[in-house]
Amino acid sequence: MCFKGFAGIHYTGGCFCHRRVLGKRNYFTMISQSHYEEKDNPLLQYVLNHSLREQPVLKKLRLRTMENSMSFMMVPCEQSQFMANLAKLIQAKKALEIGVFTGYNTLSMALALPDDGVLVACDISEEYTSIGKPFWKEAGIENKIDLRIQPALKTLDDLLAADQAGTYDFAFIDADKVNYEGYYEKSQQLLRKGGIIAIDNVLWYGKVLSPTPDDEDTVAIDKLNKKLVSDKRILLSMLTVGDGLTIAIKL
Ligand code: CA
Repeated sequence: MCFKGFAGIHYTGGCFCHRRVLGKRNYFTMISQSHYEEKDNPLLQYVLNHSLREQPVLKKLRLRTMENSMSFMMVPCEQSQFMANLAKLIQAKKALEIGVFTGYNTLSMALALPDDGVLVACDISEEYTSIGKPFWKEAGIENKIDLRIQPALKTLDDLLAADQAGTYDFAFIDADKVNYEGYYEKSQQLLRKGGIIAIDNVLWYGKVLSPTPDDEDTVAIDKLNKKLVSDKRILLSMLTVGDGLTIAIKL
């Protein structure tokens, strides 16, 4: 089966691939054999065919998300699976998600947490997060998700005020880019030693190579990238999965 969704996005063989249409294809080809050539990308399809273990309820939410015109904001499924595996590796029980959208990654992470785990999910959109809720319920993990609809910086401050510093195992940062540094610093406080902060879109479609002063998002991402490379509080990797994923392990 192969059909075509919005903006040239393809899903193939029941083992999905959705990708943004990008103008900086040469850049991504150079750094990663391009996970960003969403069509006719046999290498990415091979990766998906040989590693993706997407549960049926996740697939349903992914397909539901693809009906939305903003579906490019969804975390790539292989990236979601990778982060869920990381959470399992460190036996995470408490996690933060800063930026939910339709809750695909929220569901993936909640499935990875133990029955008594909790995922504090931060977003400002009732509209988008409502798309995921029925699937969270169907998966039987909605009790693990503490969705807070308000600015994420406020939620993180609330958690710090509730004496939860040092108690979280995993944080995923994927909300508005101009606040990335604030999200990172507050996540630093909320995480335990050995906890993992995953930061999405750190390559920002290649724009980090040539940030212009009037491009606030790119400037903010580039600024945080520059900060992390010499941040002595963490072990650091920047992966070329998706649109760039930084993994920071708190020392
Ligand atoms: Ca993202």
